[in-house]
Amino acid sequence: MNLLALPAFADNYIWMLHDGVRAIVVDPGDAAPVQAALDDADLELAAILVTHRHPDHVGGIDELRPRLRGPVYGPALDPVPQPCQALHDGDRIEVLGLPFQVLHVPGHTLGHIAFAQADGAPAPLLFCGDTLFSGGCGRVFEGTPAQMHLSLSRLAALPADTRVCCAHEYTLSNLRFAQAVEPHSTDLAAYATQCRAHRDAQQPTLPATLATERRINPFLRCTEPAVVAAAQARGATATDTVAVFAALREWKNHF
Ligand SMILES: [Zn+2]
Ligand SMILES: [Zn+2]
Repeated sequence: MNLLALPAFADNYIWMLHDGVRAIVVDPGDAAPVQAALDDADLELAAILVTHRHPDHVGGIDELRPRLRGPVYGPALDPVPQPCQALHDGDRIEVLGLPFQVLHVPGHTLGHIAFAQADGAPAPLLFCGDTLFSGGCGRVFEGTPAQMHLSLSRLAALPADTRVCCAHEYTLSNLRFAQAVEPHSTDLAAYATQCRAHRDAQQPTLPATLATERRINPFLRCTEPAVVAAAQARGATATDTVAVFAALREWKNHF
């Protein structure tokens, strides 16, 4: 199975998974890079997966429908282009022979879902849209900090070797913030060096692994004493994880 991050717009990735014959794509905000990748390898488009309703994630769907030979799968609770097979938390789908579990992860939008490969295979895939980014997380546009924190906690509880396929290349700017939160972290310094080398070579920093994210992503580390202290210095009035998360997210919004 081949995994490709197709660049789109300024910093989006449209993830493509293919077996040499059939392909699926996740969040095709633009049809053009998908068409080009399908043509390049002479692939059939077997399904489209959608995490949430934002235009940079759904804008290319209708243009791709004529060559689509399967369903569009998307969130039941976000308005996305129809027809679309509506998915709820706990649903399972199979694409290219691989089972994926649907997680409802509200916060960035109220209907946002993620797709987690669920066959116990090593290095399972996670397509998490704009909820979890490497070194950061999505803005809380529609939900509450408590909802977003719970959503991130559910993603963080997936297997450590999970490959986190985020929808944007935000890693370097996220790591600048992460280093402001935990300036003494040697894990962060090493990861930032590695990611800068990838970007200097015009390569994606993604997918990241959950094992890495748990070490370096401040939004998954809201119980770490250094992170709690940094959040309190930025106005968190309580030390519970939601208050810490909310203070971090607010700080990042203006960073
Ligand atoms: Zn979004
Ligand atoms: Zn987006």
